[in-house]
Amino acid sequence: MKIADQKTKAVDLVREALEKAKQYEDYHCFISMNEARAIEKAREIDERIAKGEKVGRLAGVPYALKDNYLSPEGVTTAAAKMLDNFPAPITATAVKRLEDEGAIMIGRTNLDAYAQGSSTENSFFGPTKNAADPTRVAGGSSGGSAVAVALGIVEFALGSDTGGSIRQPASFNGIYGIKPTYGTVSRYGVVAMASSTDTMGCFAQNADDINLVMDVMAGKDDKDSTTLEKFWKDQLPAAKEKKIGLITDFMGDGVDPEVVRCVNEYAEKMKKAGYTVEEISIPMLKYGLAIYYIVQPAEVASNLSRYDGVRYGLRSAKAHDLDSLYQETRNEGFMPENQRRILIGNFVLSSGYFDAYYLKAQKARTLLIRAYKEAFEKVDVLLCPVAPAPAFKFGEKTDDPLAMYMEDVMSVPQSLAGIPSISVPAGKTKDNLPVGAQLCAWRGNDQMLLSIAKHVEEKD
Ligand code: GLN
Repeated sequence: MKIADQKTKAVDLVREALEKAKQYEDYHCFISMNEARAIEKAREIDERIAKGEKVGRLAGVPYALKDNYLSPEGVTTAAAKMLDNFPAPITATAVKRLEDEGAIMIGRTNLDAYAQGSSTENSFFGPTKNAADPTRVAGGSSGGSAVAVALGIVEFALGSDTGGSIRQPASFNGIYGIKPTYGTVSRYGVVAMASSTDTMGCFAQNADDINLVMDVMAGKDDKDSTTLEKFWKDQLPAAKEKKIGLITDFMGDGVDPEVVRCVNEYAEKMKKAGYTVEEISIPMLKYGLAIYYIVQPAEVASNLSRYDGVRYGLRSAKAHDLDSLYQETRNEGFMPENQRRILIGNFVLSSGYFDAYYLKAQKARTLLIRAYKEAFEKVDVLLCPVAPAPAFKFGEKTDDPLAMYMEDVMSVPQSLAGIPSISVPAGKTKDNLPVGAQLCAWRGNDQMLLSIAKHVEEKD
């Protein structure tokens, strides 16, 4: 990562990033830019360096921020009309920690509204284009951040991953992305989606940059009681002689043969780098998607109930009494996908159906976690694709919510189990579309995954 020092000026780094952002404006990575403030901050850093003052580990490094992180710089929209004009009163802990080390936010990136979606087509502001093929989707929900890194506008960008929102766009755009162990990075100040699986992570071009950014963000935060004591170290651990399990359940029917080929080739590279790779079947994983699309909408319905037209953002002009205030505001402010999840969520939580759906899904979730535990008694790391196919064309799945949900079949099980998972570039299809391989391990082993990915790349 290029850091500002006596030779490299922070102002030049920031200007260069802003220029690139303009050059690639057509891709629509950003919802809003933070130009004036970013340059001002860069100047301050340059002055401090000139005076010989100590600056942070990310001094002058421009970065892009998914527009669901709150900070007073600009407006946090979560890509929804509801928050279109919402000045954030607080700063997310992750953002604060980055900025304390000198990182400079140049713009807020596009996402599916409230991080619900797998293509960034659900954004109120319109979709983001894929970095490798602009006729295709960026992936989602953190599509804008992934494309900003893949196009080289910034060296890292923040995302949030509740069921694949960092990993899948990383895979679609050929870069690295991490969904850490649940609780690694504080969720304080990030627009809540599904609180039991929301995790904060990032995108970068390599494992070392991810490691540095995560090291800065990770650790206990009094404002988020689910945060873990910091287990992250500044150096990646040695990770040799690990046993890898290639998940056969995700390498067969319904998976694009080009994706299977790329992941198999990645498995071969792992062998070449000295790892043992064996096949493993975990039948329980196939139920992950069904569990997720009950538990997750239930949490969405609860979290989005706060948008009542009174406390945050939009207040419909059509309202004439309290009921219509709720109805009109929520009707105008949410995207159709948000509304669908609110309906599903309230249904599965309703007294008549709670036992049949929500409770059953939570029981199945426990079985899924157990299945992972058993698998990790046999192998150290699990390998599988990130998504069943490479980036798809715009509009291909917008009329078919179930087809869109199928995108998440390989990325939601890890989220339900709270385990770390990374997406690493694993080659390209014959049509030149990037494909990612997904590596996951038991909780707390995030850095082992990065270390393995780095080692495999070095030995390639
Ligand atoms: N695509 C998944 C969903 O729509 C995951 C989204 C996310 O991780 N934020 O729920």
